[in-house]
Amino acid sequence: MEERIGEILIDSRQIQSRVAELARRIETDYKDVTCLLVGILKGAFIFMGDLARNIHSPAEFDFMAVSSYGTRSKTSGVVRIIKDLDIDITGRHVLIVEDIVDTGLTLKYLMANLEARGPASLEVCAFLNKMVPQRVEIPVKYEGFRIEDVFVVGYGLDYGEKYRNLPYIATLECGV
Ligand code: 5GP
Repeated sequence: MEERIGEILIDSRQIQSRVAELARRIETDYKDVTCLLVGILKGAFIFMGDLARNIHSPAEFDFMAVSSYGTRSKTSGVVRIIKDLDIDITGRHVLIVEDIVDTGLTLKYLMANLEARGPASLEVCAFLNKMVPQRVEIPVKYEGFRIEDVFVVGYGLDYGEKYRNLPYIATLECGV
């Protein structure tokens, strides 16, 4: 089955202007402390890069890589850490940078895992927030865009490792 790019839901101009807005808010909220942004690989790598270039105050950056057990369309909630943080986050102001919140199970696990390490604060910045029924409630303080319950690619998000480099968010169409 061949897939192809469908409708462009969020174009590159919309993305850049929203990322700049989020960066302004983050700068303001963390003006008295150094924020440690934790990007979740691989999906958040482009969002993290754009956020980083738009934050003009002291900030630090680290990454985690996780994989979810389960099928592509259903996250099981059991998450395996493939790459852990390099930095000790005890007493740090941590901001998790995620590509998309779908069921919320990955972030639920990550937040509990990071909270147990004793950060001074822990917040979430998600580029996309998918409106799915029966999802775990995640406090997304910084939200890029809300989208319907559709599978999307681009701006870091993949389908079989493809499409991450698209500068926009698009749906995926499956042909025969
Ligand atoms: P959750 O645990 O919130 O269900 O899943 C979050 C992860 O599933 C995301 O970090 C992302 O890797 C993947 N995911 C969820 N929805 C989509 C989607 O629409 N497109 C792509 N490419 N990945 C998605």
